Amino acid sequence: MEFAGKVVLVTGGSRGIGAATVRAILSRGGSVVIHFGSNEAAARRLAEEAGAGKCHLVSCDLGEPGATDQLWREAVSWMGRIDVLVNNAGIFLTEDQMGSDEDWRALWARTLQINLISTADLCRNAVNHWTEEGVGGAIVNVSSRAAFRGDSPDHWSYAASKGGIVSLTKTLARAYSSDGIYSYCVAPGFVPTDMAQAEFDKDPGLRERLLQEVPYGDFAPAEEIANAICFFAAGLATHATGQTLDINGASYVR
Ligand code: NAP
Repeated sequence: MEFAGKVVLVTGGSRGIGAATVRAILSRGGSVVIHFGSNEAAARRLAEEAGAGKCHLVSCDLGEPGATDQLWREAVSWMGRIDVLVNNAGIFLTEDQMGSDEDWRALWARTLQINLISTADLCRNAVNHWTEEGVGGAIVNVSSRAAFRGDSPDHWSYAASKGGIVSLTKTLARAYSSDGIYSYCVAPGFVPTDMAQAEFDKDPGLRERLLQEVPYGDFAPAEEIANAICFFAAGLATHATGQTLDINGASYVR
């Protein structure tokens, strides 16, 4: 897998799967726009690891409707183009179905805005840009096992947002593959990042219970998800456009 000469935008590149993806692309010769939300220090450390000129940092709160337009403009202005978009940033909020209507609606709106709508907005930015320039490009969207299996009883909105990403990706593949614009998903099971750790912290027995559901015997590390993202992003299997690669230790085999 080779990224020399390619410019890749990774959302949520400051931590977890996003940071592993940034490292994987850099180690294969690519240049990376690292998007971050609140964690500038972590994003800056990654850029410093990479060395001068290899990364460009852009902050954007994806919870803000429409904010991706500015993010995309800043990302493109660094090198004059983006070749690959990796929509990785996401949140995993816990619902309380018995709580107030107001809280319920606010949580659904936030989850859909950050996980799904900002992803769709950036896909639109990318597709319009590539179409105007008359060039191809690749999009890799990070979905989840939850899109296919469903999630725990208090994560309806998370599962729905990740299902939306899968159908969005299929639609883009059908619409634009003849223009050289390819779209893919990766769907991880549990991955030991801050997102997962926050759940383990709430429930000390959770890690062991979840492990029992994984025949492989361990959770996939963020680096394996990053490798799968790179496989698609590098253009090694463009006829797989529209497809999702599951990485979950056989915990949910479709
Ligand atoms: P993580 O460690 O919690 O990192 C989340 C990333 O998203 C951070 O870089 C964060 O940026 C960014 N982000 C969150 N809210 C944001 C906002 N409002 N505006 C801008 N950026 C925001 O998560 P992860 O585990 O690496 O997850 C990455 C992706 O994989 C997500 O889409 C997640 O749903 C998916 N996934 C994860 C798992 C898992 O078990 N970990 C399983 C399946 C799918 P800052 O830190 O800079 O704010």
